[in-house]
Amino acid sequence: MTRLAQAKRVVIKIGSTLLVDRDTGRLRQSWLEGLADDLIDLRRDGTEVLVVSSGAIALGRAALGLPEGPLKLDQAQAAAAVGQIVLAGAYRDTLGARDASTAQVLLTLGDTEERRRYLNARNTINTLLRLGAIPVINENDTVATAEIRYGDNDRLAARVCSMASADCLVLLSDVDGFYTAAPEADAKARHIPEINRITPEIEAMAGDAGTEHSTGGMVTKLAAARIARGAGAHMVIADGKTDRPISAIANGARCTWFVAGDTPAAARKKWIAASLEPHGSITIDAGAATALGKGNSLLPAGVVAIAGKFNRGDAVIVCSIGDREIARGLVAYDHSDAAAISGRKSGEIAAILGYPGRSALIHRDDLVLTES
Ligand code: GLU
Repeated sequence: MTRLAQAKRVVIKIGSTLLVDRDTGRLRQSWLEGLADDLIDLRRDGTEVLVVSSGAIALGRAALGLPEGPLKLDQAQAAAAVGQIVLAGAYRDTLGARDASTAQVLLTLGDTEERRRYLNARNTINTLLRLGAIPVINENDTVATAEIRYGDNDRLAARVCSMASADCLVLLSDVDGFYTAAPEADAKARHIPEINRITPEIEAMAGDAGTEHSTGGMVTKLAAARIARGAGAHMVIADGKTDRPISAIANGARCTWFVAGDTPAAARKKWIAASLEPHGSITIDAGAATALGKGNSLLPAGVVAIAGKFNRGDAVIVCSIGDREIARGLVAYDHSDAAAISGRKSGEIAAILGYPGRSALIHRDDLVLTES
């Protein structure tokens, strides 16, 4: 309960079965109204909210009169194209009636996996939140083919959570948490309220992909938990079928929390410092080194040399004169543009490059001091 109340930024994943009536294929409007009330309450209490919503294929399937059962890829993609408009429209109308703007964001795998695009998507999401819109995110199913798909919105939501540095991920589905075995098949299955480490025992409890239990999605939910915890976010699996599903979690409804050890900021800094292969280095003057030490961004003005062929979004090493590493970070320009603006004032960037780039070469959120 407190984890949700304390979160500064929450990603809420909505499963298709909650949003779309299986028999009629229509949107469950009254449920969406309750969810919207919950989202508005969260925002009123100071929490930023992002939604990852499924439902496009289920809504489009009904609208196009496609048969029951598994769809062929092209049919599913056509259904998503039709259903996504209905889905986005439903959020726009329902949140709009509560004076909140809805932003549709459709992602493909590369948007979170390739660092250049990752930085763009991250910046856009931050801007949307700053401007007060609620991003409603889905996979861009119509263009994503098998090789470039997330495939399920549990993992997509976890990637979004990591990309947006959210501190809490809520998976709303039709199960109320994680069990020691499939509860429908094993009478001795026990509900686990809190998981602090994803051990091999926990993995075994989720079953294999392809078993009965995993069609409830426990394997993908565990994969999502691993991504979320790695990004410093707590994750909760909760039953979304009730009318006010987020309030229900806050009021103590049964659910399973996967507890993170780090904060998102600490996890991100570890990722930048330890997991990424540096693609180049930037040497800076003493004034810039002092500024970094105080927690500021790296501006082009303090740069004296650039080495390596890095692209925007790559990790680079920041050195002081004399080649001593002092920091690592994700660079906002590729190597040739970085060289062109080196030693120049941020105000000159547009004139030099011909486009208005970012004022920092490495933003302070993307920078970690590594000098011991
Ligand atoms: N992106 C799919 C849809 O909107 C849903 C995928 C999922 O639920 O995991 O229909």
